[in-house]
Amino acid sequence: MKPSPQLMEEYGRVRAAALAEAEERRQAIFAQFPRLGEIAAARKALTYDLGKALLSTKDPLAARRAYSRQMQALLQEEQAILRENNIPSAFLKPVWRCAACQDTGYVEGPRGEKQMCACLARRVLEERFAQSSLSEQERFETFREDIFPSPRQRKATCRARDICREYADAFPHNQPPGLLILGQAGLGKTFLLNAVAVRVLERGHSVLCLTAYAYIQEVLAAMNSRQPLPDLTFPELLILDDLGAEPMLNNVTRESLSNLLDTRQRKGLATAFSSNFTQTQLIEEYGERFAFRLLSPRNTITLELAGENLRLRA
Ligand SMILES: [Zn+2]
Repeated sequence: MKPSPQLMEEYGRVRAAALAEAEERRQAIFAQFPRLGEIAAARKALTYDLGKALLSTKDPLAARRAYSRQMQALLQEEQAILRENNIPSAFLKPVWRCAACQDTGYVEGPRGEKQMCACLARRVLEERFAQSSLSEQERFETFREDIFPSPRQRKATCRARDICREYADAFPHNQPPGLLILGQAGLGKTFLLNAVAVRVLERGHSVLCLTAYAYIQEVLAAMNSRQPLPDLTFPELLILDDLGAEPMLNNVTRESLSNLLDTRQRKGLATAFSSNFTQTQLIEEYGERFAFRLLSPRNTITLELAGENLRLRA
């Protein structure tokens, strides 16, 4: 999936604004400490001279050495002035919305290739799936242990929370890679999945959350307009909430979910589900091919929540 021109335009705007804002800050500081302005100019000139020297010199190593020596001296002088005047060194630098890609949307991959930054990948998916919803409020930090009607339910749900948190903290190196949370409505399944999503996103990985219902709607829309099915192999973690609430359509629901899970498992990508169904109901509703793949302990950690509906008590 490619970012839309509007999205890339937004990135360009955000980056230009960060650079302009930093330049304004730098000029204000240079006005106050002219030597800092001279150092900045000298650094620029030094880099320019190195580029020129490398084109003509017979000894590029010596040129580079001289460059780093002089650059080092300038940087040290700059740091000393900043320290003396209690100016954080970050003051001279732009404040990026995303530090990883400096608001370009792209980072260097493991083999030096240009690849989409997690921040842009997330935006592309969000744009594609407007239903994709993630609540910043539902996170491990806001999990309340005092809302459970019985010590037993609290203990079991806290245990599930701990497993989910370990899962999110280890991501993407979990064995098994998948996660499935079962239980009736109102026991906190969506909260836990959401908390996993927020934590995994914060750790810099791409995540897409959508309901199984929204996924099937996308599949139907694609089939009706003879477009290719939505490509969900992009996010490192795909969360399909509320499996079982989507319409069960012949030749569509089971097949597309099976193919989706197959493809992601083959690529070693993690998929997390929640469902009101029991394991037996999952097998009955979705058939053995999908259910066994999903429920196999080799593929998935399965958690079952039980107890009283927490929403009805609130
Ligand atoms: Zn980024």
